[in-house]
Amino acid sequence: MADQRILIWYRNDLRLQDHEPMIKALQLGATVIPVYCFDPRQFGTTSRGFPKTGAYRAQFLRESVADLRQNLRALKGDLIIRRGLPEDIIPELAIALQVQAVYFYGEVTSEERAVESALEQVLSKIGVITQSFWGHTLYHADDLPFEINNVPELYTSFRKQVEKASTVYETFPAPPPLKALPEVEVGEVPTLAELGVEQPQFDPRAVLRFKGGETEGLARLKHYFWTQDHLKSYKETRNGMLGADYSSKFSPWLALGCLSPRTIYWEVQAYESTRVKNDSTYWLIFELLWRDYFRFICAKHGNDIFRASGMQGRAIAWKQDDTRFDLWRAGKTGFPLVDANMQEIAATGYMSNRGRQNVASFLTKNLGIDWRWGAEWFESLLIDYDVCSNWGNWNYTAGVGNDARGFRFFNITKQARDYDPQGSYIKHWLPKLANVPAFQVHEPWKLTEVEQTRFGVRLGVDYPNPVVDLFKSAEANELIYNQSQPLSEISKTKPRQ
Ligand SMILES: Cc1cc2nc3c(=O)[nH]c(=O)nc-3n(C[C@H](O)[C@H](O)[C@H](O)COP(=O)(O)OP(=O)(O)OC[C@H]3O[C@@H](n4cnc5c(N)ncnc54)[C@H](O)[C@@H]3O)c2cc1C
Repeated sequence: MADQRILIWYRNDLRLQDHEPMIKALQLGATVIPVYCFDPRQFGTTSRGFPKTGAYRAQFLRESVADLRQNLRALKGDLIIRRGLPEDIIPELAIALQVQAVYFYGEVTSEERAVESALEQVLSKIGVITQSFWGHTLYHADDLPFEINNVPELYTSFRKQVEKASTVYETFPAPPPLKALPEVEVGEVPTLAELGVEQPQFDPRAVLRFKGGETEGLARLKHYFWTQDHLKSYKETRNGMLGADYSSKFSPWLALGCLSPRTIYWEVQAYESTRVKNDSTYWLIFELLWRDYFRFICAKHGNDIFRASGMQGRAIAWKQDDTRFDLWRAGKTGFPLVDANMQEIAATGYMSNRGRQNVASFLTKNLGIDWRWGAEWFESLLIDYDVCSNWGNWNYTAGVGNDARGFRFFNITKQARDYDPQGSYIKHWLPKLANVPAFQVHEPWKLTEVEQTRFGVRLGVDYPNPVVDLFKSAEANELIYNQSQPLSEISKTKPRQ
């Protein structure tokens, strides 16, 4: 064929390195036509009316797309950028540019898959071939020791089987110089205003000034592993909450595919062979495997991950309490660990893993509020939002995930004492508590009148009284949880009308 043209539809894979669709197209000798569509559906609102893509993520996405374009231009190629529905835009481009095939990384969740199948339908009508690739994970779906439908329900079992039977593939090389694009209007990265998103204000209290793109992602990798040598102590520091380097902060770049997990994996191997191999170096892979697990388990369970009853199919009488939900969102529950974390995510779009587990536990196990509300709030705000990691983790913390270990909740004050013994994190986000001594700062409701005056914090005025009693509320919600039944049991006892 004279000049085969293959359109590469970029989605959450905004990088040059380790990009199978690109390399496979180039191996055929094709002219590649890279395209990114800003899909207006991603800039609408969630079912509770939150922006589906908040300001921090929208900005990070713009930066990532701009960086991809710049890197493609450095190879004499370019990125075509459009605003609109991929299922409209890509067929139009395919016709105009006489494209024979469209290559892309497939997704596993419903909204994303619906776009893929709408696109595939239109393209097949006009005789354009589509080829979807498996990506996003450390282990390839084809190399798992089980079919997706048989992915083990428990993480440990998944991990052990995969570690025993599968191997992490080599990364694909970065592409060589490209053939120039055919004559086409390449388009510009839309402004935030054009996307209907407000300009984010950088908060100097943030853990990091996250900047989107493969270039920045690789720089972060270099910084964390090689320059600062933090990988060797990752396991000891990863539960921190304050500062840039207690954990890798790779998640935003992973979520948009600016970094591939395999790139990180092979960098860990290089680190292990030249610096040190220890529990910490392994633990980063262990955490990336959690990410894999959620993607595979979401592929298996389909839309159940978005239902109130979750993957487990457990019908819990969740409360629909707007007032308390708003206090949780605003970081005004009266529990400093929860409030500091909720203020951090609202101000920066990021929250540590320790924080996420605690605030999610508090919402579901102490307030008893529908966990999907929390998942939507995270979806809106998180700079590293990833459908599978977010909804999968929320299933878990709400007790509707697939590890049916009963009602388990975080003792927020114990967690605060264990992970923030000096109260430094809390004081960073809640300056009203700055003068309260470390041993009292996690339970401000116990301060006497005299102490409140001494420390300059009046309860109910400067800092809220607790919205619930920690243990009584957990007890009450445990009762509700224990009364709930798996949906399969309900359908056995109550035949459908
Ligand atoms: C309720 C809740 C919601 C979450 N939502 C998201 C989300 O939308 N996007 C997201 O990337 N992570 C999510 N996580 C997982 C985890 O909190 C973040 O991946 C982590 O905090 C990101 O920071 P890091 O890159 O410094 O992590 P590190 O500790 O440095 O971990 C390295 C990488 O391992 C992966 N990882 C670590 N922990 C988990 C985990 N529990 N589940 C899945 N992958 C993990 C991430 O890709 C992370 O970048 C969520 C966790 C909870 C409890």
